[in-house]
Amino acid sequence: MLALDTREAWAQFLQFVKDRCSSTAFGNWIAPIRVLESTSEEVVLEIPNIFVQEYLLSNYKKDLCAFLPVRSNGEPAIRFVVAAPERKSSSTLAPPPLNGTQSVSDMDNVYQVKLNPNYRFSTFIEGANNQFVKSAAFGVAKRPGQSYNPLFIHGGVGLGKTHILHSIGHQVHEEHKKLQIQCITTEGFINDLVDSLRKKSVDRMKRYYRSDVDVLLVDDIQFLQNRPNFEEEFCNTFETLINQNKQIVITSDKPPAQLKLSERMIARMEWGLVAHMGMPELETRVAILQHKAEQKGLLLTSELAFYIAEHVHNNVRQLEGIINRLSAQCRMLNMPISHELVERTLREMVQHMPSQKISVEQILKSVASIFQVRVSDLKGPTRTKEIAIPRQIAMYLAKELIDDSLITLGVAFGKTHSTILHAHKNIEKKICLDEMLQRQVGMVKRMIGR
Ligand code: ADP
Ligand code: MG
Repeated sequence: MLALDTREAWAQFLQFVKDRCSSTAFGNWIAPIRVLESTSEEVVLEIPNIFVQEYLLSNYKKDLCAFLPVRSNGEPAIRFVVAAPERKSSSTLAPPPLNGTQSVSDMDNVYQVKLNPNYRFSTFIEGANNQFVKSAAFGVAKRPGQSYNPLFIHGGVGLGKTHILHSIGHQVHEEHKKLQIQCITTEGFINDLVDSLRKKSVDRMKRYYRSDVDVLLVDDIQFLQNRPNFEEEFCNTFETLINQNKQIVITSDKPPAQLKLSERMIARMEWGLVAHMGMPELETRVAILQHKAEQKGLLLTSELAFYIAEHVHNNVRQLEGIINRLSAQCRMLNMPISHELVERTLREMVQHMPSQKISVEQILKSVASIFQVRVSDLKGPTRTKEIAIPRQIAMYLAKELIDDSLITLGVAFGKTHSTILHAHKNIEKKICLDEMLQRQVGMVKRMIGR
């Protein structure tokens, strides 16, 4: 049964990718992959060449981790086996041709992402941490090009950025039938460019993006980092569209200032509204679980929903993965969800994620050790910079990593909630400007296991 589960998890991952990338990219990179073997610990995949492995890991590692078991080193538990030469259809060493046989005439929309039919405003559950993004996105969809432009949405993986992006697409489509919507992943934009360079049809592609598109939805702009030529091309397209009041919406895993992109590009992305998408708080996570369970026809008591939501606190996609897995198992075993089943599923799927809630003490200890100060100093009244900054970092991390109210966190630090909020804002700003600080905070996080 467990082996079946990993195979099913892989099938779910395939469906997930299918909804996100173009059929060409899917056909070239993903479709040739075969499952050779699957156990509860790992899945063995046969790939036509090493580039497919690279493609998979560099584009979908985090998603793979959300769907499949994860090894203790944080890698998805996949063993890759390169297919024996006779099984391979074409060349063995070259990466698969991006698009060898496609006719030139239909290149324009090759990399357009299909809007996921489930990603709509009506299926997006709101809570305090995503309300702002949702209402900004809704505003943009109602009056494209006339409210915030661009709308820049940033937040961690699996928090609903793509969901909101596609919701905008659906809403615009319903209310403004004449508007041409182009929804692409950054990878798709790059592929389009590479393709049209090869076919010597760059002018047509540029013309398409710059004059035929009314609403451009761009997913995962972080993939534009370290690709200066593509970045310049994107920036030109961006400016042309904005100057014509065409709506642009961009998602990213980081705020503009933290992306390794040119100043020009960063400034452009900050022109409109930059909105942060946070992890939904406990009650919203419970609502999401109940909504997803209902969609699957699964009976989930609120006690179990709370139990799951308490254990999974940094990725909505994982919440969804748990519901999918529970639903598959209930179907297979032909029995309702039990506490035991939930616990086993959590153990299997959340093995790499910290199962215990982080404590303020833990944060203080790690901060003290990285910044070489004493915990008692961090707790004390000293206001020298050497102490005050690490103390603020501890507060910042507490707000980021602990799912408690500001008031509760304030009590743990012996401060008021506004002190925590102030510290959080201050450090958030500093991190954007100071790479060293950013790295130190990263070290503390790793030390805590996050
Ligand atoms: P991201 O693009 O930020 O990595 P996605 O948009 O792909 O995340 O979301 C991951 C999954 O979680 C999707 O299936 C999405 O429908 C679901 N999801 C995320 N946030 C919500 C929400 N607030 N309400 C309902 N579903 C959500
Ligand atoms: Mg996404």
